Amino acid sequence: MSIQEVSMTTTFLDELTALLGERGLLRDPDAMARYVSDWAGDRLGMPLAVARPATTAEVAEVVRCCHQHGVGMTPQGGHSGLVAGALPAADGQELVISLERLDRVRDIDPVNFTMTVDAGCILENVKQAAAEHDCDFPLSLGAQGSCQIGGNIATNAGGLNVLRYGMMRELVLGLEVVLPDGRVWEGLDALHKDNRGYDLQQLFLGSEGTLGIVTGAVLKLSPRPTQSRTALLGLPSVQAVIDLYGQARRDCCDLLTAFELIPRRCIELAMEATPELRDPMDDSYPWYVLMEVAATGPIDLGELLEQLLESGMERELVLDGALASSDTQSAQLWQFRESMLEGQRRRGEHLRTDISVPISAIADFVSQASDVVMAASPQCEIIAYGHIGDGNLHFNILPPTTLADADKKAHLHELEERLFEVLDRFKGSISAEHGIGRTKQAPYLARLSPLERELVAGIKTLFDPKGLMNAGRILPTE
Ligand SMILES: Cc1cc2nc3c(=O)[nH]c(=O)nc-3n(C[C@H](O)[C@H](O)[C@H](O)COP(=O)(O)OP(=O)(O)OC[C@H]3O[C@@H](n4cnc5c(N)ncnc54)[C@H](O)[C@@H]3O)c2cc1C
Repeated sequence: MSIQEVSMTTTFLDELTALLGERGLLRDPDAMARYVSDWAGDRLGMPLAVARPATTAEVAEVVRCCHQHGVGMTPQGGHSGLVAGALPAADGQELVISLERLDRVRDIDPVNFTMTVDAGCILENVKQAAAEHDCDFPLSLGAQGSCQIGGNIATNAGGLNVLRYGMMRELVLGLEVVLPDGRVWEGLDALHKDNRGYDLQQLFLGSEGTLGIVTGAVLKLSPRPTQSRTALLGLPSVQAVIDLYGQARRDCCDLLTAFELIPRRCIELAMEATPELRDPMDDSYPWYVLMEVAATGPIDLGELLEQLLESGMERELVLDGALASSDTQSAQLWQFRESMLEGQRRRGEHLRTDISVPISAIADFVSQASDVVMAASPQCEIIAYGHIGDGNLHFNILPPTTLADADKKAHLHELEERLFEVLDRFKGSISAEHGIGRTKQAPYLARLSPLERELVAGIKTLFDPKGLMNAGRILPTE
């Protein structure tokens, strides 16, 4: 850095300190350490500094200052996104803008079934606040204890209950956004119907912090279910899982809230990560389904599930099952779903994917993709699980244990390319959950048509002509 650049940076940081105070701007490397790695332990470079504004007005001031000085910005929520979108660049030139101090629930309207929140609210706290008003904010995912509403919006998060409630896109009615030049777009409407022209708000859903910083949101609530039932079922094949899903959708209709595919290996990984967990059934099965139904009012959910299980057994789709008869038992069954992620994380470097195909093609896809991957790397281990109701799979791959650490990344990259080639045959998506960020950029760009690329780049330029807001995520820097 030249003397002139150092002096400009010092002026810029002094301006931010004057704006936010010592508590609002971190410059010490030790204090900044927790802002440079994500849930998976992936790390990138050091930020220039970490700004921690506490209000929308402060966010706007910080962004205005960055815009004026030409400083790049990285909006950051709970850093649980898994494509390195919220991590600062390696060159130490980006300012991390953490939303963690914008954590107020602004208003709850239980008659309109809406709540207005700061974007830095942690998802679990939002769910809790809704529940206190006998309402439900139905987004549920493994990272809900740390991820923030702003991060959920920026990644259009889905989770376990998409098949009944939809993704974040369907759960947001209004937004407040600080644009890359510091102007504030005030779109905090709580309207269930609104057809005025282009839907600006939807552009920010899934925009991964590249178009602006979300500071507030109006969320759509649902009535809180008064009862739910959970079952873990053992099945012989992925095709049986898909056939059972078709039956469950018809028999349970909108009462079905979750339908998760889990391979045997994940049950073992869960028991490794949480030793208190016991094998849920006497025998083990190649595939499991963790499903839940929920309702408000006098419906016998136990009977509904038992009938489904009975007819599933008659059709030889279901081999065995464990029905939870209490909330504690239900929580134990869900513990398998949570602990298997931790078990997988402990296995070290592996290929994580979040792909989707049409539900009816899942079994075929798993079979073809497994064949291709195993032919290319007979010693690797495939761990495929996912949200069946959304056609969303995590087709993850552990590298051969015999492979040297230094060679694992390149090997997994090659397997990812082969996997995505199979996915293309099914017209699937390379990113159904986590977005593009930095890590999925190459395969994303390779699949964009020239027209799509022109439109996407045009949207970015319209909002952020200087290219300062989360540059290099989704699209490369020019
Ligand atoms: C254990 C685990 C389970 C998960 N399960 C699911 C799942 O089931 N379904 C699913 O869809 N996803 C899942 N995810 C990934 C999911 O995207 C994130 O958990 C969550 O939505 C990201 O929120 P965050 O606050 O941590 O965002 P971060 O990781 O901090 O940021 C993610 C992106 O959003 C941007 N961003 C953050 N806050 C803002 C803001 N206020 N304004 C503008 N941009 C912002 C960042 O710049 C970055 O590009 C899971 C992740 C983990 C670790």
